[in-house]
Amino acid sequence: MNQGNDKFICPHCNSSNIGKCSVIYKNGVTKHHYTSEISGTVGNDIFNQQYFSGDMETTGISKTQLASLVSPPKKTSDITIPGIIGGLVFLGMIFPTLALVFIVIDKGITGLMDFFINKPSKIIDYVGAIVIMYFCSKYQSKRTDEIDKSYSQRYRDWCDSYFCFRCGNMFVIR
Ligand SMILES: [Zn+2]
Repeated sequence: MNQGNDKFICPHCNSSNIGKCSVIYKNGVTKHHYTSEISGTVGNDIFNQQYFSGDMETTGISKTQLASLVSPPKKTSDITIPGIIGGLVFLGMIFPTLALVFIVIDKGITGLMDFFINKPSKIIDYVGAIVIMYFCSKYQSKRTDEIDKSYSQRYRDWCDSYFCFRCGNMFVIR
């Protein structure tokens, strides 16, 4: 009757007793607090709607295990060592930079030039700090982008993931 439901079977055991992970997670696991029977509707458009019900004992998987199986993916930490170093260098530069700002306010640009003429090594400190911060933040943002990308991929997979109540298989249907 409905061609759309042909693909809604478990590829491992051909059972149609499957549930969408996001639906099980939202309806079955979160709201009903691990009731022994989980039921609901699969799919979010008219062609994909399908009633499912599953007794947890048929899969041999406990409700707690099911809850963690069908839960949405967690984002891994994106903190990197260069990111921490860059942050520390930045923090370390706040007060010296404020001191420079006060020199400019107090004595103008010539005061600032006098300061660096008297302490040329400070120029190296500032240039070094800027270079370190630049490369650290570049490294950190690249890592953050990678993690964001892999997370959104895993989240998309999770949104299309199904759980088989018969054999416990998890699979993606698009
Ligand atoms: Zn199965």
